[in-house]
Amino acid sequence: MAEGHAVARWGDALQPLVGERVADIYVPPRWRERATNIVGAELTRVETHGKHLVLHFSGEWVIHTHAMQYGSWQIGPIGQTLRKEARFARLRITTPKHEVVFYHGPVMEVLSVAELANHERFNSLGPDLLHDDFSAADVIDAFHAQGNREIGDAVLDQRIVSGIGNIYKSEGLFLATIHPKRPAAGVSAEEMQVFFDELVPLMQAGRRTPGWIATLPRDLQLEPWMRNWVYQRRGQPCFVCATKIEMFRQGDFQRTTYFCPHCQPAIDL
Ligand SMILES: [Zn+2]
Repeated sequence: MAEGHAVARWGDALQPLVGERVADIYVPPRWRERATNIVGAELTRVETHGKHLVLHFSGEWVIHTHAMQYGSWQIGPIGQTLRKEARFARLRITTPKHEVVFYHGPVMEVLSVAELANHERFNSLGPDLLHDDFSAADVIDAFHAQGNREIGDAVLDQRIVSGIGNIYKSEGLFLATIHPKRPAAGVSAEEMQVFFDELVPLMQAGRRTPGWIATLPRDLQLEPWMRNWVYQRRGQPCFVCATKIEMFRQGDFQRTTYFCPHCQPAIDL
């Protein structure tokens, strides 16, 4: 699943291509005519914001992508062995040195710079918690403005802060001892600061580590499948207090939320 840390990792992996020129590009038929503008263009910048990744090219063209739940990138040298069948590629770019493939990619658009500037979804994103200049203080008022909306739902709202996905949501709330059903307006600034202080280093570590999301310290990962404090641990004992972990579904999209009813008290429900 592509939470913000995975998108940031793909962005990091694409950085060595900045300055290279596009030798060839494959896109689905809908975008093919526009993509001819990118052949011969230079990749000038790779931008990640939350779960969005944008490739900027000379000549005022961009490729905007969102991996949703199932898209993924492969970035490597020319001639690399493809991880998946070529027919799953939504985008394939070759430069003199590198080959880049975006598999499945549910969102992949070839846009002008002007169109990206008017892109409603992209431009409504809140600050990315993995950017160097992120400050929790800048987003706390926006959480308080959510009123009675449950905090476990609000932290997934990419318009408030971008990059948090469903696994890190449960893990961050657990580490900050915040009950996921508490109204956003009732979670103090100090508690939200703790949430980000716990979550950001975990996500930065995840950005550097391909594979499964693991939030548990190494010494608690007694089995290969023991990776997280609460996520997908319904009915199992909390690592802190041994109370059984619970799960419920939350928000318009009925996303699963895991929590410990003892460590995360429902103080103002
Ligand atoms: Zn507990």
